[in-house]
Amino acid sequence: MDIADNIKRFQDELPKDVTLIAISKTKPPEDIFAAYEAGQRQFGENKIQEMTEKWEKLPKDIEWHMVGHVQRNKVKYMAPYVSLIHAVDSLKLLKEINKEADKNGHCLDCLLQIKIAEEDSKYGISAEEAKEILDSEEFKRLDHVKVKGLMGMATFTDDQAQVKKEFEHLKSVFDDFKKEYSNMNILSMGMSGDYKIAVDSGSNMVRIGSEIFGERN
Ligand SMILES: *Cc1c(COP(=O)(O)O)cnc(C)c1O
Repeated sequence: MDIADNIKRFQDELPKDVTLIAISKTKPPEDIFAAYEAGQRQFGENKIQEMTEKWEKLPKDIEWHMVGHVQRNKVKYMAPYVSLIHAVDSLKLLKEINKEADKNGHCLDCLLQIKIAEEDSKYGISAEEAKEILDSEEFKRLDHVKVKGLMGMATFTDDQAQVKKEFEHLKSVFDDFKKEYSNMNILSMGMSGDYKIAVDSGSNMVRIGSEIFGERN
């Protein structure tokens, strides 16, 4: 498993309008640096503390994406530097992100996580709940947070038809949101096991971990 080769393979394979986020959770800074040297600049983590430690050690032109579930009391640690928060699922969390972005004198970009999988364990909200948030007066008053699109995770299954159905559903929700709201241009869907189906279904941002860095322990 050569990290640089894997990065190059994805750069060649993915359509030009699809952004690759290299998911480096649990992997050491040396592995991230190997991907960096192959030209990769966007990395994703699912724990704020781990991401912050890596941000401190690694080159400052890396863009850090938070792809995991976010606890409100930890937003402050990533607010100075995070580039996109993928898994936002409440107005309360958006308000906290807005507050911390304001303190840092900037605006933070987020995605709303839509629940598309059948399993109960997955986080996320329905398209209707997402609309309620975006339509609320409270949200419209938040000047330091931008919702730039949607994120979703398909059911963990070998049933490709099921995965395709879920991704196509999210794509249709995204198209609908794009018409109704401004700034909506990111659709984050697809991981190592299902990114091909996700890209075929209209994803423009994939989050790939194990196919780049190897299996996690
Ligand atoms: C870990 C993780 C990924 C990457 O998973 P792989 O199967 O290793 O590609 C993508 N998205 C989220 C939200 C993750 O937590």
